[in-house]
Amino acid sequence: MNERIKYLADKLHHSHTLDRSEFHELVSGRTEESAQYLYGLARDVREEIYGRDVYLRGLIEFTNYCKNDCLYCGIRRSNRSADRYRLTEKQILDCCQTGYQLGFRTFVLQGGEDPFYTDERLCSIVREIKKLYPDCAVTLSVGERSRESYARLREAGADRYLLRHETADAGHFAKIHPGELSLEQRIRCLRDLKELGYQVGCGFMVGSPYQTIDSIVADLEFIKEFQPHMVGIGPFIPHHSTPFAKEPAGSLELTLYLLAIVRLMLPDVLLPATTALGTIHPRGRELGLLAGANVVMPNLSPTEVRSKYLLYDNKICTGDEAAECRRCLERRVESVGYKIVVSRGDWREK
Ligand code: SAH
Repeated sequence: MNERIKYLADKLHHSHTLDRSEFHELVSGRTEESAQYLYGLARDVREEIYGRDVYLRGLIEFTNYCKNDCLYCGIRRSNRSADRYRLTEKQILDCCQTGYQLGFRTFVLQGGEDPFYTDERLCSIVREIKKLYPDCAVTLSVGERSRESYARLREAGADRYLLRHETADAGHFAKIHPGELSLEQRIRCLRDLKELGYQVGCGFMVGSPYQTIDSIVADLEFIKEFQPHMVGIGPFIPHHSTPFAKEPAGSLELTLYLLAIVRLMLPDVLLPATTALGTIHPRGRELGLLAGANVVMPNLSPTEVRSKYLLYDNKICTGDEAAECRRCLERRVESVGYKIVVSRGDWREK
């Protein structure tokens, strides 16, 4: 094994951080052997804190309308071929009912940035879910909104918020987003969310076009500084009707390596093995768990709309019922020696 990489992995394990040039070396100098070593450390840390438990989040993709035009995303507004839909409040509550029976205690409402969902409409949905399922957590993932709006949603009962920063390198951010969006604004949102008392998740795609090792190092430094409760990391996967249709997907091994690094940086972080990871490799999510992930987010959306919420091509589970997804994941999680628990799965301080 490369002694220098092993030294850096051990240093990260003990001090939870590295300086910029060390992060660079750890990422660029990786080998199959050093990756296995890093995964082992990440699993140890994860098991010290969360044991062998895996938390479930039921993902409800409630709208694919979006006013944004992110170059990588299949539901960007200029994709005229996307078949747009919105779920009614009743449909969303039905998903929660099914989910609750299947043992879900967190519901994630994710969607495009859809102006139809005013604060009033969204707050009413959140309030209703919290009233019917007071023992469940509600996570929102609906993009950039005003601080005021985040405050109202928090008051209505939302517990957590997922807003990936996408890349902490401003130059890179500008190459994969339309001019109206900025890294600065994204980070403003993340800071507001944290101040308002949400458990907050940031994150990034691995292998998005124009990403460099330097931008990945910037992501790691941002995550270290921001101290999120959750971090979403998945490979970029091209979508056929976007400007990035012909770009290559991000790699499985780099995604796993970065999951392990984030686990070592933030021992108590909630780290999902994402659907995108399960899409680029048939056992991607299991491998994610073996690299330090401790959360899975099966789809709870109604079967009729699943194939319409396509952020990228070949997305898995688009034909399954919620119950099938739940059972399938249970088997997958058990196949690597972990177990799904019926719990809100809140962040816990080490
Ligand atoms: N509108 C919400 C939810 C976005 S979808 C928001 O802005 O936060 C959730 C995540 O999917 C995005 O943050 C992005 O990182 C990821 N995503 C989008 N397109 C993707 C693609 N082509 N490949 C992989 N991940 C993608």
